[in-house]
Amino acid sequence: MDVEDPSPLRRFVVAKRSITSVFDQLLDFVKDGSAFVDETWRSEDLGQVAVEEQSLEMQTCATKLATIREVLVRRHMKVAFFGRTSNGKSTVINAMLRDRVLPSGIGHTTNCFLRVEGTDGDEAFLTAEASGERSGVQTVNQLAHALHMDPTLDSGSLVKVFWPKSRCALLRDDLVLMDSPGTDVTLELDSWIDKFCLDADVFVLVGNAESTLMNTEKLFFHKVSERISKPNIFILHNRWDASVTEPEYIEEVRKQHLERCVSFLAEELKVVSLDEAPGRIFFVSAKEVLSSRMHRAQGMPETGGALAEGFHERLREFQSFERTFEEFISQSAIKTKFEQHTVRAWQITEAIKAVMDSINIASADRKIYCLEEREEQRDRLDFVRGQINRLTDSLRERIKTVTDDVAAKVSTALSDQIRSLPVLVEEFRADFNPTPETLDLYKAKLLLHVEERLVGCLAHRCSSSILRDIQDNQNHMIESVRPLLSLAVQEQFGLPSTKFELTYDLNLAALCADFQEDIEFRFSLGWTALVTRFIGPANAKRALTSGDPRIQEVSSFRDEMVVSIATGLVSLTSRASMTVLVIGGVVWRSVGWRIIALSLSLYGLLYLYEKLTWTDASRERVLKLQFVEHTIHRLRAIVPVTSSSCSQQVHKELAAVFSRLSQRVDLSEAELEGNIRQLSFRIQRLESIQRRSKAFRNRATELESQLEAFSAQYLQGN
Ligand code: GDP
Repeated sequence: MDVEDPSPLRRFVVAKRSITSVFDQLLDFVKDGSAFVDETWRSEDLGQVAVEEQSLEMQTCATKLATIREVLVRRHMKVAFFGRTSNGKSTVINAMLRDRVLPSGIGHTTNCFLRVEGTDGDEAFLTAEASGERSGVQTVNQLAHALHMDPTLDSGSLVKVFWPKSRCALLRDDLVLMDSPGTDVTLELDSWIDKFCLDADVFVLVGNAESTLMNTEKLFFHKVSERISKPNIFILHNRWDASVTEPEYIEEVRKQHLERCVSFLAEELKVVSLDEAPGRIFFVSAKEVLSSRMHRAQGMPETGGALAEGFHERLREFQSFERTFEEFISQSAIKTKFEQHTVRAWQITEAIKAVMDSINIASADRKIYCLEEREEQRDRLDFVRGQINRLTDSLRERIKTVTDDVAAKVSTALSDQIRSLPVLVEEFRADFNPTPETLDLYKAKLLLHVEERLVGCLAHRCSSSILRDIQDNQNHMIESVRPLLSLAVQEQFGLPSTKFELTYDLNLAALCADFQEDIEFRFSLGWTALVTRFIGPANAKRALTSGDPRIQEVSSFRDEMVVSIATGLVSLTSRASMTVLVIGGVVWRSVGWRIIALSLSLYGLLYLYEKLTWTDASRERVLKLQFVEHTIHRLRAIVPVTSSSCSQQVHKELAAVFSRLSQRVDLSEAELEGNIRQLSFRIQRLESIQRRSKAFRNRATELESQLEAFSAQYLQGN
């Protein structure tokens, strides 16, 4: 029954596995959480959703958890055996281990502590604290020999005995048993306690049934209970088999021992109540138990043939001790070895929850701020788009009005200037000489003069007012567009500055290139003049330049001319001319040749007069008149062209300003769109942070509930 029954020690092992698994999960969780917080903290563009302290705190949590986990993995239950030499401590341990693990019965061999623990390998070995060397042992005798021979083993040093778990069930359950040299052989109780006892879950005082508790033993436990609050102490009265030699006193002796020990535990040490104390005191025979168990293990009868009286009772008592001891040690070890860590884990998850909560709140706040800002930017973008559309229409309208205005202004001014052209030409003074070279120079200067004056007057009349209009309109455009521009765009580019000059390109030289003056002397009553009077100046010219080789159709033209003259004559005949001829005939008849002679001389005188007065001044005057006539004619033709060129210049200028401004509005729009995109991206990231921080929080809560379940199952109650 003592083998198959599940040991309470398993509870410790299971609890340890369970809490270690929670810690493993916690470690993974805190690593992920730490990476998350670190990443969030480093995302500076999101604006302090997490701070460096939080990241550091997470790292600290991770380090603490890792350390605790390390400690947890190494946690075990520890029972320490004390008592005088030869009371049977080693035998008790061997009986519990169901094997001769420790040497016994060889008296006081060493001064060292022997710590027995399980090893996963098949080989038993020991390590001495001082040398740290590992030496294999096959048998108890070898072990005893090794201990005996080791010169490095001082009083109070520790030797660890590693015994294969496969050979001992008890050692599989994380139990460590500690044998001490004997409370009677040392004066160093204090240092023993500090070195070997502070982490013991249970103390077993192995007494001798044949004698009462000695003062050294009592003193030791007094010292223990000063250092450890309410230590779990069991008292074994070993060698109880020896008492069968005096059966008549056995109950009496037992009662005495019991009373003294109860009084010691409950009244002196006050580690248990009076009621509980008897449950910690057992009367056993370790030697019997060990030998019966070893026999049984070898398939032999339990007692090896010699059944001492009361053996079964003592065996049951030993088993009862083992069971009680196991229950106590597992319960106590779970509490002392896991409770603090569970609390620490809880504190860590609480700290992580607080970090996640504050990140959650900060990211939610930040998200609201970004949402509002994005809404604002969207409104602004809508406003800018609507406004620029409206502005484009109204400004186009305005530009059209201005340019129409300019065209009208320039047209009026140019027409006025054309009217005053005779004066301009008249003003002109330069050397005049009818030789072709001088004449060309004269004409060039005249052209230059006229052009300068015309342009000057136009500029005087139009430019300043047009420039003012342009300036006003530019200012108007800039002022209308400025509110639509972002500050960055305004700063980056500034607003367009304007330097505009209107040019009046009359190009008089080209216009008058075909001007050909006619300053030959021409008698007013000459043939040419008369023909001109009859057939018009153009035809006359052609008729009179018949010697010109360029004219191919001279004869036909002559015919034409004759027809013209004839027609003229016919018309003359038909009307008053007929009367003149009739009168001529009458005059001829009445006045005779004298009158004709007089007329002829008058004609000659007139010719002479005209010939004499045909000076250079007359020639210049005629040239100027011809020039004025020609130029007026040409300038009139170009009035619409010039005015529209000016209006185009203005249009171009204003349109350019507007297009530059539009570009800037486009830039501002692009900036707004960029901002909106960036904000949307930021909002997404903040939402993800919010979600993740919440998930981390939930996970922390879930792990807490695991801790809570652990605590409910293993730490509370009992
Ligand atoms: P330790 O010095 O306290 O470790 O004592 P040991 O375990 O070495 O035992 C000392 C001696 O007492 C050995 O000879 C054992 O055989 C013997 N002994 C131990 N337990 C019992 C017991 O229950 N009954 C009897 N009769 N002798 C025992």
